[in-house]
Amino acid sequence: MQRLGILGGTFDPIHLGHLRTAEEIGQDLDLDKVYLIPSAYPPHKKGKPVAPFQHRLNMVLLASAHSPILDVLDLEGKRPGLSYSIETLKEIHNSFQDSELFFILGTDAFTEIMTWREYTSLFDYAHFVIIRRAGFQPEKQEAVLADISLKTKKTSKPDVFTAPSGKTLIFKSPTLLDISSTRIRQIIKDGKSIRFLVPGSVRDYIIEKDLYGKYANSR
Ligand code: ATP
Repeated sequence: MQRLGILGGTFDPIHLGHLRTAEEIGQDLDLDKVYLIPSAYPPHKKGKPVAPFQHRLNMVLLASAHSPILDVLDLEGKRPGLSYSIETLKEIHNSFQDSELFFILGTDAFTEIMTWREYTSLFDYAHFVIIRRAGFQPEKQEAVLADISLKTKKTSKPDVFTAPSGKTLIFKSPTLLDISSTRIRQIIKDGKSIRFLVPGSVRDYIIEKDLYGKYANSR
């Protein structure tokens, strides 16, 4: 049985924070692969400007080439309408039968999970690996756990919970790189370098396609 990680995101652009987390969780949980899944039409970014999906996908493809454990699934680009994680999980569950799925997400995303479509069903399809990011607020995490606590049990291990489906919710603190795509876009707009925040290939792509700001990052 394969153990597969899933890291979805807007990836606008993908950065070393995403990549280091995927790599480290992949090794820590002994995963065979960690799939990066760019969101085509992120529901939580509705109305906000996002770079075209094809550019974001191309950057994720470039970035994943740096690690043997990372791969890319373009499921959401092929689906019409908003990109709901529940649909993506069901699709992966059907395509990779006999695999155990691990859905990786940061605490910022986890504390919003109650707003996701069919959010309690998410735990039927995958284990959840929740990454403590900078700015993480324990009381928000507690609120989410309290909401699902009627159905989710603590285990003897700290930071590990079990859903009624038998899937686990595991809280992890991998090496944290306090990088966000928002910050990267702002640095580019300010005309400064994003060297060492994204892989070189992604930086070259941003410069070549002139994403996020005119010639801003060419230095
Ligand atoms: P933005 O700043 O545009 O909101 P972001 O940097 O948070 O973007 P997303 O594409 O929204 O990136 O994030 C995808 C997933 O990766 C989310 O689960 C998020 O919590 C996680 N993530 C983002 N940045 C990091 C980081 N530096 N370290 C660990 N996880 C991260």
